[in-house]
Amino acid sequence: MLKDDILNFNRPFVIAGPCSAETEEQVISTCNRIAGYDDVQMLRAGIWKPRTRPDSFEGLGSEALPWLVEAGRQTGLRTTTEVANTKHVEEALKAGVDVLWIGARTTVNPFAVQEIADSLKGVDIPVMIKNPVNPDLSLWIGAFERFKNAGLNDLVAIHRGFSIYRHPKYRNVPNWEIPIALKEELPDVPMICDPSHITGNRNLLLEVSQKALDLDFNGLMIEVHPTPDLAWSDREQQIEPDKFGALLSALIRRKKNLDPDVKEMMAEVRNKVRTLDDRIFELLSERMRLSQEMGKIKDENNITILQQGHWSKLLNERLDQAESYGLSQKFVRNLLDAIHQESIRHQTKVMNTENKNDKTDH
Ligand code: PEP
Ligand code: MN
Repeated sequence: MLKDDILNFNRPFVIAGPCSAETEEQVISTCNRIAGYDDVQMLRAGIWKPRTRPDSFEGLGSEALPWLVEAGRQTGLRTTTEVANTKHVEEALKAGVDVLWIGARTTVNPFAVQEIADSLKGVDIPVMIKNPVNPDLSLWIGAFERFKNAGLNDLVAIHRGFSIYRHPKYRNVPNWEIPIALKEELPDVPMICDPSHITGNRNLLLEVSQKALDLDFNGLMIEVHPTPDLAWSDREQQIEPDKFGALLSALIRRKKNLDPDVKEMMAEVRNKVRTLDDRIFELLSERMRLSQEMGKIKDENNITILQQGHWSKLLNERLDQAESYGLSQKFVRNLLDAIHQESIRHQTKVMNTENKNDKTDH
């Protein structure tokens, strides 16, 4: 099974190839060049391209399928392409593509995913599922469930980031917590990162690829083109074969198995972290006990729970101190919001109880 091959591969398992198949020569020569790098285990090329605007290049369609299949034959590597409807599935299977992938704009639509899954009932083929364009973990999991229910068990996840309006850095924001949560829910599913579509910028490919490896992703899908500036789609993010090779060599590969002395060092630090975390939770519990006390005072004196002015002052003080604690303002803001919400819940709890008591007393 593909998923076992990925899970057992000495990372990263790399899938590479052009965004779109443009000519036979482009597909076959690019694939042969990248197949020379040991990490490359699968070839990609877009045959049907889901483009945002109708006047963009929408892929050559099935005439280009044999080029990808031939590149696979010449290199001995598996091939993959995106399918977005049952016609694509039928043609890709007929041509002999080894692995199908579901694009982000398809995962978002349960009707489309269901139709594709139904059309694959009884077919033994691996399917890779990209995250939906919107940051919705359940929708992504739902797509896995639809394929599983159709009897397809060789499934792989691809993280390609999430749509956002005018992000200063990324084409699609990574929201790393979502693929991490998917791994928690579906531990047997390998996770591949697609830094090309996350960044939309070839200069950022290395940093995002490295981040994925540091987060224990199983592999990478990277768009490679012989002359990226002349590509028919996704020009800014495609990378030349040589630069792709340089990127692979620049990646720091983290070891899977720890040396015993490193393991010991880590265990020691982890213990300290656990002790600190215990203290943080005890403090939070104490903090909420005080919130309840505060709730009672407010209740007895008929004061609103939310004291906006007081809260804003506290918040700003802490935000100002963030840097001196070595914490980001975003983290401090999220943490204080969470504490504040929990505190309001505790204050409301004591008030409700007292109201109930009032009712029974009278
Ligand atoms: C692609 O891989 O070329 C592609 C269109 O990807 P996504 O579905 O992530 O936009
Ligand atoms: Mn692309």
